[in-house]
Amino acid sequence: MNKLNKLKSICAGKSASAIIHLVISEFPVDKLALATSFGAEDQVLTDMLCRPITGLRIFTLDTGRLFQETYDVMHRTREYYGIPIDLYAPDPGELADLVREKGPNLFYESVENRRACCNVRKVHPLRKALHAMEAWICGNRRDQAATRAELDPVEWDESNGLIKICPLCDWTEAEVWNYINENQIPHNALHHRGFRSIGCAPCTRAVGLGEDVRSGRWWWESPEHKECGLHNRPSVPQK
Ligand code: SF4
Repeated sequence: MNKLNKLKSICAGKSASAIIHLVISEFPVDKLALATSFGAEDQVLTDMLCRPITGLRIFTLDTGRLFQETYDVMHRTREYYGIPIDLYAPDPGELADLVREKGPNLFYESVENRRACCNVRKVHPLRKALHAMEAWICGNRRDQAATRAELDPVEWDESNGLIKICPLCDWTEAEVWNYINENQIPHNALHHRGFRSIGCAPCTRAVGLGEDVRSGRWWWESPEHKECGLHNRPSVPQK
């Protein structure tokens, strides 16, 4: 049985915490990492990984366009758990070329431009972060977006060529917040101002009651376009 099938088998029907600890036992410490953008789901996973400290590497993508509140929760998370967090930034030359050619606010002009920006600021740094890794963990949930409705806890990440683990795939948003409130863990202050899913500042806005959780991300685009390329899935082609 290959590693992917073994993980699918041993993780089936397990709790998020059990999945995390099962996958940690299956990989060398330098071959598995948690990707965080300090959203509510990522803070739950960080808490599960750090209480007690497992030593698993945690990294984030610093796009250069994040909210100050995101840097604040990044700082608080480091201090609260006493852990290092690795930052991956865009390649300076690639970023300079993009901005020189298309301007700093290119993302509002077309889906193509928006994807070009996400590629330079997120997708390429993610590839660097995942280089030589065998698996990564992230906080995706099925009910976050139409593009994530079929998500499994253990998947093959075709774009990056490694295993992706989504321990919270079947959690609801309410379960995420119950965990945060019960355990009183650090979280982004923007969540209290109507921001339910938080990305880069120019591409994220607060959403109203009853609106879709990711409707504040790239709000000028239609729902089927709303992935930045970090979580493309073969069964959900980009339109
Ligand atoms: S979310 Fe917006 S600013 Fe951030 S990388 Fe994508 S297009 Fe660029």
